[in-house]
Amino acid sequence: MKLLEYEAKEIFSKYGIPVPKGVLIRAPEEVTAHLPRIGDAVVLKAQVDVGGRGKAGGVLMAEDATAVETARELFSREIKGVPVRSILVEERLAIAHEYYVSIAVDRSSRQPVVLFADAGGVEIENAAMADESAVRRVVVSPLLRDIPPFLMRELLGGAPKELAPTINSLYHAFQEKDAMLAEINPLVTTPQGVYAADAKLIIDDNALARQGIAVNRDLSEREREAEKHGFSYVELDGSIGVIGNGAGLTMSTLDLIEYYRGQAANFLDVGGGADQERVMHAVRLVASMPGVNVIVVNLLGGITRCDEVARGIIAAGVAPTVIVRMAGTNEEEGRQLLAEHGYRMLESMDAAVRAAMEVAA
Ligand code: GDP
Ligand code: MN
Repeated sequence: MKLLEYEAKEIFSKYGIPVPKGVLIRAPEEVTAHLPRIGDAVVLKAQVDVGGRGKAGGVLMAEDATAVETARELFSREIKGVPVRSILVEERLAIAHEYYVSIAVDRSSRQPVVLFADAGGVEIENAAMADESAVRRVVVSPLLRDIPPFLMRELLGGAPKELAPTINSLYHAFQEKDAMLAEINPLVTTPQGVYAADAKLIIDDNALARQGIAVNRDLSEREREAEKHGFSYVELDGSIGVIGNGAGLTMSTLDLIEYYRGQAANFLDVGGGADQERVMHAVRLVASMPGVNVIVVNLLGGITRCDEVARGIIAAGVAPTVIVRMAGTNEEEGRQLLAEHGYRMLESMDAAVRAAMEVAA
């Protein structure tokens, strides 16, 4: 989950990273009350989940006399199509130099990798593309609490040593918050010291519960239903419903539908050991999606018994055509039950998907 700048800055600040004085506002008039504390020269920053806000008109400078008007202007804008609902008002820093620092998980070495560039700010991509050596890179053992001094020296090169504590604090935040990315661009030097002028933090979705972060997403009624039954469920745009057991088998089914130029309506993994009851709920759930006129049920019988699955499908008794591909435990009983109730059970996943394509067309 990607946090907004002000949320990331709150967290960074707890780790000792200096951030500019600021406040979050949701209406232009709110800015006035905060200016005495923040200062006369401010920066207004749209809190939208898009990159490159500066270039897209999402970062505006203002003075005390123009702050309300500028805030009103920013609230009226869309930044790359995203409406501005809140603005971070910050003291304007007297920036001497902009650096770039980020920490991410390096997939190949499976360790944190720290990137640093002397030329940060909005032009970093261009600079990095023009000159790869402009970005320095070190890999840090995840067993270490701190970035070791020799790696920090390599990272900074000729950049001021006063940046080191902030980069090390960023590393602590990255580790403890289960981050996938922690970035400060620009990390700036000013006459008052070092500051994180911007902040980006992406937390691993698998760690949200451990981090005590509520996923602030409004679930649809079907998504709530899926959560209740413990299904892994994602809604897509197509018309072919999909039910599988195991994420791999379910994804393969989606892949095959895509291969035949079809469009899946959803991903639903019933999980291991699904009984009649669970299968029935899964089939009813997918059948309730608007526009779904066919459902592919692709299951491997193991602990899950094919006859139980068949009973679940029959008990669901839904309108969309249900096409089944099952193999494994009690396959024969399952096939018989389905046949008796007029359901088609096909030998291969390929045949099942092609049959579903015909119904969907
Ligand atoms: P982004 O475009 O979404 O990455 O937004 P940033 O927060 O990085 O802001 C974009 C640019 O605005 C920065 O690279 C700075 O050059 C500039 N900027 C941001 N805050 C300040 C500030 O306090 N003072 C000054 N002088 N410039 C700022
Ligand atoms: Mn930035």
